[in-house]
Amino acid sequence: MNTKYIFVTGGVASSLGKGIIAASLAKLLQARGLRVTIQKFDPYLNIDPGTLNPYEHGECYVTDDGAETDLDLGHYERFLGVHTSQANNVTTGRIYNTVITKEREGAYLGKTVQIVPHITDEIKRRMLLLGQTGQYDVIITEVGGTVGDMESQPFVEAMRQLQWELPEEDFLSIHLTLIPYLKAAQELKTKPTQHSVQELQSQGVHPDIIVCRTEKELSPELRRKIALFCNVKPGHVIQSMDAWSIYQVPFNMEAEKLDELVVNKLEIPNLPPPDLSRLGNFLERLKHPKAEVDVALVGKYVELQDAYKSIQESFVHAGAANECRVNVHCVHSEHVNDGNVADVLGGMDGILVAPGFGSRGLEGKICAVRYAREKGIPFFGICLGMQVAVVEFARDVLGWADAASTEENPDTTHPVIDLMEEQKKLTLKGGTMRLGAYPCHLLEGSLAWSIYGKEDISERHRHRYEFNNRYLKEMTAAGLKISGVNPDHQLVEIVELPSHPFYIAVQFHPEFKSTPECPQPIFVAFVAAALKQRASKNN
Ligand code: GLN
Repeated sequence: MNTKYIFVTGGVASSLGKGIIAASLAKLLQARGLRVTIQKFDPYLNIDPGTLNPYEHGECYVTDDGAETDLDLGHYERFLGVHTSQANNVTTGRIYNTVITKEREGAYLGKTVQIVPHITDEIKRRMLLLGQTGQYDVIITEVGGTVGDMESQPFVEAMRQLQWELPEEDFLSIHLTLIPYLKAAQELKTKPTQHSVQELQSQGVHPDIIVCRTEKELSPELRRKIALFCNVKPGHVIQSMDAWSIYQVPFNMEAEKLDELVVNKLEIPNLPPPDLSRLGNFLERLKHPKAEVDVALVGKYVELQDAYKSIQESFVHAGAANECRVNVHCVHSEHVNDGNVADVLGGMDGILVAPGFGSRGLEGKICAVRYAREKGIPFFGICLGMQVAVVEFARDVLGWADAASTEENPDTTHPVIDLMEEQKKLTLKGGTMRLGAYPCHLLEGSLAWSIYGKEDISERHRHRYEFNNRYLKEMTAAGLKISGVNPDHQLVEIVELPSHPFYIAVQFHPEFKSTPECPQPIFVAFVAAALKQRASKNN
């Protein structure tokens, strides 16, 4: 079978959940036995989102191979349980960078370099790249932005060309739109969808299937009307109602027969029906929690719900694993201080201190760690969360009052967290952190070792600063346990406090590898510890 290419565009409004629809379709096709991956093409000029503030673009997701990517790749991995890579996220910036670099190398000597064909050729090359590896039967490409944006035009043009260059049965286009409900008129309105599809068609792309985001059921008449005005087959208009969980969406799409329409158009014969039983088991547990816990997520980007997407999702997975609802309370680290910490965090069954950059809100994070440590509340620090835990321990337990990370205070006399040697020489900011998967060796008998149930693990990183091994002896003598170390460079990756009921902080980002069917073990253990904490309060 040839590799099949499915394209997902969006219309009417942004934030309709193209990534979730793409991931749900991918899940259904995977559950029917196909090898599927998803890639995202983003229309902005940054080479990758690594240099973007989370307020601009939500979380920056990191892959095993160290790509800093759009958060939708997190959804792809969580739904499919398949790792993505640098090739799965392409931006306009990356496309232009390649073409301009080739121009300087003389690759186009004598020619005028133009958007069509040079930029579109590079887009098409990348759209087809993963399909040529032989690893996948189906490649789903999500085109970021909204049809009609000036920025996404070259992507749509590349799709238009592929529509004719690929065999008809290897190409499929899905357009996701919004059908707004007007309360005053008590009516669902199709006009914005008609306009959006017209726009797409005016750019030469013909959608095979229209997926409509809607708050209310679409009647058969309305579906027929959309099909008629949007030039698609009746039956190829499907609804995507607001769902109680994103993991319910694959089931909703199955009920709407999205996978059926797709395999028919792509002429893929003899597939078994989708087996979604493992995801179904997870959803059942999620739907019927037997207990609940309150955990604080202490960070500085809490105003934006997407800034800690993978952490939030990891709590959903770990909650279901514990048959427990996890109420995540986002706490702004800038607003935590010694005066109010008991009020803000006193009722919590667990405290997670989040990753982050720069010094804003840092002292609040330190304050939160101290509170968790002194009160015996389960504590989990991630990346910057581990760094502040080390600083807090150095200040309070070892009495080094000005201990700090040099990120916050370059002049400290106790730089317990410092820039890695290879970072000191770097001048470029983009793509230069310690990125991607690294091995970590766990200390036998430690909490981390018992959580993972093995000695060697691999987790993903994204940081420039490190535990300063100059202080290793004094820290461990004072009671801090180093339970995870990089076997090649002796970098400290995990710290624990054995004197505390549950205290673990990690330099890596465990949240990037959690999936509903394979919840991340530290999150699972942290929620279990929070449950215990809750039970001890109630006794
Ligand atoms: N700012 C810290 C560093 O660069 C932590 C980064 C993070 O939390 N992802 O090392």
